[in-house]
Amino acid sequence: MIMDVVSLVTGANRGIGLEVCRQLAAAGHTVVLTARSADKAEAAARDLAGEGLPVHPMRLDVSAQGEPERAAKELAGRFGRLDVLVNNAAIAYDTSQRASAADLGVVRTALETNLYGAWRTVLGLLPLLRASARPRIVNVSSGAGSLTTMGGGTPAYRVSKAALNALTRMLADELRVEGILVNAVCPGWVATDMGGRGGRPVAEGAAGIVWAATLPGDGPTGGFFRDRKPVPW
Ligand code: NDP
Repeated sequence: MIMDVVSLVTGANRGIGLEVCRQLAAAGHTVVLTARSADKAEAAARDLAGEGLPVHPMRLDVSAQGEPERAAKELAGRFGRLDVLVNNAAIAYDTSQRASAADLGVVRTALETNLYGAWRTVLGLLPLLRASARPRIVNVSSGAGSLTTMGGGTPAYRVSKAALNALTRMLADELRVEGILVNAVCPGWVATDMGGRGGRPVAEGAAGIVWAATLPGDGPTGGFFRDRKPVPW
């Protein structure tokens, strides 16, 4: 069992984020379950507590300026550091759109959460990650953002995940020297509110994210993985 590892997951009140919290808590991590409202975080934390998995609920709206800095102050007071950040929160509003007829307002909204949300969370929490002996950042991405297999449709979502992948590479390169491992993980097609019916069980999708969150110190950085295996950018 891994002891005394403090892990924070964004967008964790439902879906894959909630399951990542469940699996990390079951592995012995001290888990900070965040959601865009305190009420949602507390309700989800109550559910996990009912399963015998106590976690710490916290508000963190990743699309709001200043939120990660506020969360960082709270984390510093409660734990003094952060070991694992899982940037999971995302939206996918443009399932019926085409890049050639896109509503750029929708694109901007997706980028605000899926790219800037993850980016501002890293910026806000990096000082706390730097105080960790085993810092990890996992950006929950998607094969939909792979340039190798890029097709049409869902342009806002695809562009946001492609950009998140680029951010992953840059952060990994810059933070490697500090021992901070940064990887992108696609959970595969998962049956959640976003994924809809037909996808695989959420526990399977979350497992690859948990793997990246618990990599050993000599583990990979700057990679893009699905089910622990590299996938093309
Ligand atoms: P869901 O739509 O089920 O859950 C998304 C979560 O993100 C919700 O908890 C939602 O909160 C939260 N969220 C959205 N905006 C914000 C915000 N501004 N601040 C904080 N939290 C926010 O999605 P999934 O669980 O399916 O997806 C999780 C991750 O996995 C995403 O990054 C997604 O892109 C990725 N993914 C999912 C796939 C799938 O098949 N499901 C496939 C590939 C990638 P709220 O309840 O308040 O809306």
